[in-house]
Amino acid sequence: MRLLKQSRRVLQLHPHLLKFDFLKGHGLRYASFLHQEAYIGGKWVSASSGKTFTVANPANGKVIGHVPDMAEEDTQAAIDSAYEAFQSWKRTTAKERSILLRKWYDLMEAHKDDLALILTAEAGKPLAEARGEIGYGSSFLEWFAEEAKRIYGEVVPSPASSKEMIFIREPIGVVSLITPWNFPNAMITRKAGAALASGCTCVIKPAEDTPLSALAIADLAEKAGIPPGVVNVVTASRPNTPAVGNLLCTSPKVAGVSFTGSSAVGKLLYRLCSTGIKKIGLELGGNAPFIVFNSADLNKAIEGFLVAKFRNAGQTCISANRIYVQSGIYDQFLAACKEAISKRLVIGDGFSKEVNVGPLINQSQINKVEGLVNDSVKMGAELVLGGKRHDLGGLFFEPTILTQVSAEMPCIREEIFGPVAAIQKFETEEEVLAMANACPHGLAGYFFSQDISQVWRVARRLETGMIGINEGLISAAEAAFGGIKESGIGREGSRHGVDDYTHIKYLCMGGIN
Ligand code: NAP
Repeated sequence: MRLLKQSRRVLQLHPHLLKFDFLKGHGLRYASFLHQEAYIGGKWVSASSGKTFTVANPANGKVIGHVPDMAEEDTQAAIDSAYEAFQSWKRTTAKERSILLRKWYDLMEAHKDDLALILTAEAGKPLAEARGEIGYGSSFLEWFAEEAKRIYGEVVPSPASSKEMIFIREPIGVVSLITPWNFPNAMITRKAGAALASGCTCVIKPAEDTPLSALAIADLAEKAGIPPGVVNVVTASRPNTPAVGNLLCTSPKVAGVSFTGSSAVGKLLYRLCSTGIKKIGLELGGNAPFIVFNSADLNKAIEGFLVAKFRNAGQTCISANRIYVQSGIYDQFLAACKEAISKRLVIGDGFSKEVNVGPLINQSQINKVEGLVNDSVKMGAELVLGGKRHDLGGLFFEPTILTQVSAEMPCIREEIFGPVAAIQKFETEEEVLAMANACPHGLAGYFFSQDISQVWRVARRLETGMIGINEGLISAAEAAFGGIKESGIGREGSRHGVDDYTHIKYLCMGGIN
């Protein structure tokens, strides 16, 4: 109640918050964590240049806020704050860090409806999905609050009776966390939760399209009592991002970088990190195969297809991209897909209750999806459904099915990142494994089969870091999330999620009589 009163006061006192008034119409209760300033060293600050950039709602293009357009000087200030805070944060006990992370989690849960509204407003994600992401995002804080207490060392049997050999785990230091727009909440908590649990401090650089969710998360960190400088958020526009990113990867005060985003940018940051031999975690792009074998349960395969292909309008790194269907079930699967898309997918503004497919995030994304469909059709793909911008206009693209596709077409070669299903027929298990594995990426894969031997054969041979077997929704805080090949290095979530934020120190104690 106290918070409610305080929030109303904030709304009245700060005219710059009025841009968010439309969110009140959608049921926003508290406005106190809607920030248009960045968060450095426990203070809400503008860019030193005074410049800002706009944040717009992708469903209608309306400006919903302005945030600081930060550059190197501001980034340096954030790194300095994180470095200073690290000197005391690293000495906190695991239990102290656990309690603070738990408070952060509790606040995220308490404010999940409001956080979802902010997320829908800046990312366009349907509200029910946005709520799902907030639950997923906060679950990382809960998980790492618990894991903080289990970052164990080892005592190993020594080969010499005069020596004891011990490994302890230590936090690496300041970490730069660079995150994408497609999960503006969860991609931050998945990193920051692990970093803080390990005893690291962080500088977060959210995507240009979705800084408001990051600032709301930082506000709740502050309210949870996480000390100044432990969590910092630097907002930057796309033109400023390379300089900011460069410093985040090369500053001598930064010990590690965790990046989620495209493989192209991941490779660039990997190179930058090599100059200082920084520890790096990379969660990069995917091009997920989704295989339906003759023995599959058709209903389960369709349910899996809908969620793996159309969640977040196809803009997830683990979205089904290359859909391979065995000849014996192909016609049934295609017919069921068409029916499911036509009857169950409702496209529109994520704030409308019935909508389950929102807009694409920005102009360059819709141009890319459109180009990829057109080029594939020119190369011989058959358009079975959709295929163009939606009548709603703006950034809405029709749910689309392409068939008669082949390996050279862009819809198979590239990560589509849109509501486009490219479906290809195959005959044998051997053939589909060869096609699925002929790809430089290896993030997620999916297959549907009721044949238990086939399940094990294919699970072993599919070259991806994660596999959904008769399942289209695989993400959870408990899961080891990550890819192989050009899809990345390291794992987030699970007990392995702290590995990128800790190093092992070996203590050898000699002279024991
Ligand atoms: P992106 O262009 O690589 O951007 C990701 C983040 O990197 C953004 O914050 C972006 O800032 C920043 N960035 C861009 N250029 C940079 C540079 N030169 N130096 C430092 N930072 C830079 O990717 P995206 O288009 O936002 O996200 C989509 C991609 O992310 C897809 O490929 C998807 O598969 C992948 N993804 C992977 C996972 C996973 O867990 N493996 C999860 C989600 C998404 P700006 O916004 O300012 O450009």
